[in-house]
Amino acid sequence: VEEELDPEAAAIAAKLAQYRGVWVFIEQTEGESAKVSWELLGVGQELAAKLGVELCALIIGHKVEHLCTEAFAYGATKAYLVDAPVFFHYRTEAYLEACCHLITKHKPEVILMGATGMGRDLAGAVATKVATGLTADCTGLGIDDKRNLMQTRPAFGGNIMATIMCDKFRPQMATVRPNVMPMPEHKPGAVGTIIREDFTVPEESILTKVIEIIRDSHNKSAVDITGAEFIVSGGRGMMSPENFAILHELAEELGGVVGASRSAVDAGWMPTDRQVGQTGKTVRPKIYIACGISGAIQHLVGMQDSDMVIAINRDPQAPIFEVASYGIVGDLFQVIPALTKKIREI
Ligand code: FAD
Repeated sequence: VEEELDPEAAAIAAKLAQYRGVWVFIEQTEGESAKVSWELLGVGQELAAKLGVELCALIIGHKVEHLCTEAFAYGATKAYLVDAPVFFHYRTEAYLEACCHLITKHKPEVILMGATGMGRDLAGAVATKVATGLTADCTGLGIDDKRNLMQTRPAFGGNIMATIMCDKFRPQMATVRPNVMPMPEHKPGAVGTIIREDFTVPEESILTKVIEIIRDSHNKSAVDITGAEFIVSGGRGMMSPENFAILHELAEELGGVVGASRSAVDAGWMPTDRQVGQTGKTVRPKIYIACGISGAIQHLVGMQDSDMVIAINRDPQAPIFEVASYGIVGDLFQVIPALTKKIREI
C-alpha cells in the first residue's frame, strides 16, 4: 500500500528526488592528496551501492588531473574536475564558488569531505551557501530506507553518540575525521569518466591572496601519530613528563611512536600533536598500548578501532579494559620496563 503524502511532503519529496549521486571532495595541496579523501571513497562506495547511484570524486585545483586516476583506483566511477590557475592554492572563496557551481548544476545527494582544516572550512561555507545541513566530525555513516544519510558523531562532550539526518534538504553534507574510515582497496588501472568543468573565478574577485607559504619550523619534533602502526600512549598515571622516557623506550623497540591522553597533554607532559581522542587525533594502529589511561569515552573514540589494544592499569575496573584485547592489571612502572626487556630478548 503506497503511503499518501500531504501536498507539502510531496513537494519536498519531489525536490529531494532531483538529487542523485555520492560525491567525495578530494582534498589536495599542490597536487598532493590527503589520505582522508581515499578513506571517504571507501565509505562512499558503500553509500553509493545502497542508494544505487554513482560514486563521484570532486577535484578542484591546478594541474590535478592525475588525481582522477587515483580516485578511480579507490572506487570512484566519475570525477568532476575543475582545473585552473586560480585554484592552485586553497582559498575559501574560490573553492566555494566552484563547489556551489557544480552542486547547482549536477545536484548530488550526498557530499563528504575530510574533517581537516580545509574540509571543515569549505564544508561549512558550502552548506551555508547552498542552504543545507552539515554534520561535522562524523564517526559513522549509513543510509536509511528513505535515502537519508544517517550521520553519527559524538555529542554532549562525547558522552553520547548522536545520529543526525537532514531529511528536508539536499545535498546531505558530512565531514569525517581522518583515520576513522578504513582505506579502501587500491585497484590501479580502474577506469572512470572525467567530466571537465570549464569553470573559473576571476582572480580580482578573490579577497585572499597567498603571498608566501612558510612551513612550521617551530614544531620540528612534530610527529604524525595518525600513520603509526604501533602507538604506546601514556595518561595521567605516568605522573610526570620524565616518566614518559619508559614509553619512548618501548615505542622505539616496537618501531612506533608515543601518544598521550588529554590529561597528559593538558599537564604539559606531552605536546598536543600526540593527543589521541575526540579533541585530538583518531588513530588505528596495529597495536595500541594504553598505559595509565582510564579509558574515558573521549579517549576511546580516538583509538577503539585499533587492530589490537593492550591496556596497562592498576585499577581492574578501569573502562579501558572494556575495549582492550589484552589487559594487564598492575603498576605500569613495573610492567613497561619488563615488557621492553622481554621484547629486546626476542
Ligand atoms: P585519568 O582518567 O586520571 O586516568 C589515569 C589512570 O591511570 C587511572 O585509571 C589509574 O588507575 C591509572 N594509573 C595511575 N597510576 C598508575 C600506575 N602506576 N600503573 C598503572 N595505572 C595507573 N581525553 C583524551 O584523552 N582525549 C581527548 O581528545 C579528549 N577530549 C575531550 C573532549 C571533551 C569535550 C571533554 C569534556 C573531555 C575530553 N577528554 C579527552 C578528557 C577525558 O574526559 C578524560 O578526562 C581523560 O581522557 C583522562 O585522561 P587519563 O585517562 O590519562 O587520566
